[in-house]
Amino acid sequence: MSEQTEQRAARTRHVVVVGAGMAGVQSAVALRGAGFTGPVTLIGAEPHQPYDRPPLSKAVLLGKAEDSAFDIDFEALDITLRLGLDVTALRAADHVLDTADGPVPYDALILATGAEPMTLPGAEGVPGVHLLRTLDDAARLRPVLDRQHDVVVVGAGWIGAEFATAARAAGCAVTVVEAAARPLAGALPAEVAAPMAAWYADSGAELLTGARVDHVEEGAVVLA
Ligand SMILES: Cc1cc2nc3c(=O)[nH]c(=O)nc-3n(C[C@H](O)[C@H](O)[C@H](O)COP(=O)(O)OP(=O)(O)OC[C@H]3O[C@@H](n4cnc5c(N)ncnc54)[C@H](O)[C@@H]3O)c2cc1C
Repeated sequence: MSEQTEQRAARTRHVVVVGAGMAGVQSAVALRGAGFTGPVTLIGAEPHQPYDRPPLSKAVLLGKAEDSAFDIDFEALDITLRLGLDVTALRAADHVLDTADGPVPYDALILATGAEPMTLPGAEGVPGVHLLRTLDDAARLRPVLDRQHDVVVVGAGWIGAEFATAARAAGCAVTVVEAAARPLAGALPAEVAAPMAAWYADSGAELLTGARVDHVEEGAVVLA
């Protein structure tokens, strides 16, 4: 062992990663790749084996795949997984996280807690209203497509476009409402995004742009 490696090993400390999505998982794996040999704990609120989200609006939604777990051998990498565990507080001065299973001390902490979908006024708890963010969301949405209901998709971004395509393929009538004047307004310049408006027509979905949702009721999306 070189002197430098020995010095680094001597400083080895417990690293805790909160969030078992792409960022958290890759951080833990990268620590091992960089030669870190100390304990690494990966904590995730969801109960599932860590998984990648992109297939949720594609193969998983369409029933072509059951899940999208990362192909990573956490045991072989000596990464401790603590899944289904919500971190409820961070006491930075004490270097401690609080969880339902008690406190978790750390020396170094990586916060990779991702993002939450925006919710709409009146949408919470209303039957027939779904988010598409997690593996459980995708599993709940599959039978909705099978029932061939009339579907309103709020948001003409990538995920909205993918869901609209899947819902059309499943035989649902689909209306997509988008507050901006065009699809993908926040992501791409108009010239690049312009041809994508045609995707909706091609799939048989109705696209309403400049259509801001005011609130949601059972069975209806009410536009401003
Ligand atoms: C349906 C869908 C399709 C997508 N398709 C694509 C695509 O085709 N291409 C692309 O580039 N991107 C796509 N994305 C976006 C991509 O998945 C995200 O950019 C990526 O998931 C971000 O990873 P992350 O690790 O930062 O956050 P997240 O994936 O949000 O992971 C954060 C994790 O932290 C956990 N967490 C949060 N708070 C706590 C807490 N207090 N205690 C414990 N755990 C906690 C959460 O449960 C979550 O599992 C898609 C996203 C979705 C939802």
